[in-house]
Amino acid sequence: MTLGGGGTSPPVDSPDGGSHPRLSTTPGRLVVISGPSGVGKDTVLREVFRIAPRLNYSISYTTRPPRAGETDGASYSFVSEPEFAAMIERRELLEYARVHGHWYGTAEARVRASLDRGEDIVLKIDVQGAAWVRRRVEGAIFIFLLPPSLEELRRRLEERATESAESLELRWANAQRELAEQDRYDHRVVNDDVRRAAREILDIVESRRAEASRP
Ligand code: 5GP
Repeated sequence: MTLGGGGTSPPVDSPDGGSHPRLSTTPGRLVVISGPSGVGKDTVLREVFRIAPRLNYSISYTTRPPRAGETDGASYSFVSEPEFAAMIERRELLEYARVHGHWYGTAEARVRASLDRGEDIVLKIDVQGAAWVRRRVEGAIFIFLLPPSLEELRRRLEERATESAESLELRWANAQRELAEQDRYDHRVVNDDVRRAAREILDIVESRRAEASRP
């Protein structure tokens, strides 16, 4: 697979304001998972990686402070705002966005390394970042994770002990905005049951891989 290989596609804009060649993701597959806060992305992805340990995960950079129990380089690479700005300046991010008042971004080199080895890689990113990936990357798989209902989503957000009241309202408002984007995704998976949702995601990746390898 080549990322940034150039090819014949026209260059596209990127969030850093620059113009990059359109990227292509074969034979490795780039899998984008989005969904509103509280939908259970982390739990479902843990199950996905338990079933398919060879799948890679793109560890994002963020300026958000670590939560209790989070260590640098595991769930995220935690950086300062100036460090993040420098990465944008150096054009090191495939995509980035401001989410819930903090910056989050995907390191292009990490994704490229995985795809160059022919390995699939999962990006857990918000809808703004996914929109950039859609413009910049050819052949990526876009999956949106949905709650069984809005009431259930609200309940899950309220249950989260890590969120302050203000942050809860911000996340609820953002959840509505995220849900409004679901039709732009190739696949929508309802997280009514963690195991079932994880298997559905893996089935989607598997069938897209099979499609791509057909002559
Ligand atoms: P949290 O801080 O709760 O872990 O994540 C908040 C939101 O940031 C989630 O919706 C997640 O999808 C999004 N996010 C995490 N990493 C990235 C990234 O690298 N890029 C973008 N655009 N969004 C991200």
